[in-house]
Amino acid sequence: MMDLSQLVTKNLPIYKKGKVASYIPMLAKVDPQQLGISLFDLTTNKISSAGNYNVRFAIESISKVITLLWAIKKLGMTEVFKHVSSRQTGFAFNSILNMEINKTKAPLNPFVNAGAILTTSLVANKDTFTDILNFAQEICNDSQIYLDEEIFHSEKSTGNLDRSLAYYMKSKNMIKSNVTLSLDIYFKQCSMMITTKSLANLGALLANDGIAPWNNHRLISSNAATCVKSLMMTTGLYNQSGICSRLIGVPTKSGVGGGLLSAAPRKYGIGIFSPALNKDGNSVAGLALLKDVAQELRINIFR
Ligand code: GLN
Repeated sequence: MMDLSQLVTKNLPIYKKGKVASYIPMLAKVDPQQLGISLFDLTTNKISSAGNYNVRFAIESISKVITLLWAIKKLGMTEVFKHVSSRQTGFAFNSILNMEINKTKAPLNPFVNAGAILTTSLVANKDTFTDILNFAQEICNDSQIYLDEEIFHSEKSTGNLDRSLAYYMKSKNMIKSNVTLSLDIYFKQCSMMITTKSLANLGALLANDGIAPWNNHRLISSNAATCVKSLMMTTGLYNQSGICSRLIGVPTKSGVGGGLLSAAPRKYGIGIFSPALNKDGNSVAGLALLKDVAQELRINIFR
């Protein structure tokens, strides 16, 4: 039987190889010396946790999974993917270059910033953030998820790169709705506060074909669950997606708050938190822990 606490103790020191995100001032204040994990086992329907699993942290880019699921629910898969592509990226998560160089009519995929902002813009209205927050609470089985106003204002006041991506897409007529409103929703969705348990639940929902294992209700369609897992595998860790596909082999989405959401189909949902990041913007100790857990549980999906 795997000892999660032991694996946390083993991998915690790896945080020293990374740095907390500093381009969002509020994130720079987070203590880097943290590592936590929650594992939802679909055979027993139980969660086990270790380390800093009770700490709330900013969801950041993992919210892109939630807004994509929300947009698919509202508009349907075909409509959403008319506006955003599903290609792998060779650029950083906040790059504007690729759209300009390739003269693309749609951002690369829903998990780079441009694609996520565009996805949010597709569903943007004055109630959208409340809808997304409620939806996040439902699919993460966590009614305590809340908006951290300080992080939101920190993101909004420094988010000039995200603003430039949005206005670039507006100028090319990719974004049709109000840019300011879409950006506000995007910055707010990134500032939702979660724990590793919230992520383990969401991972378990995705791994269980869209049916919540905690109440047996279908919360998202089977197609949406499959689509999101495929995108997590190919683009969820940005430029590290290929390497992690080889080394870990479990669909995973990261956020610069230090979170990792993983879904091992039909087996486990996994949530990990460790705020120090590598140069690709992924949790450095978190990925090391995920690699160990995936090996112990033999959940590489290509096995
Ligand atoms: N809020 C962050 C940003 O827009 C999210 C990036 C991330 O988590 N990779 O830059």
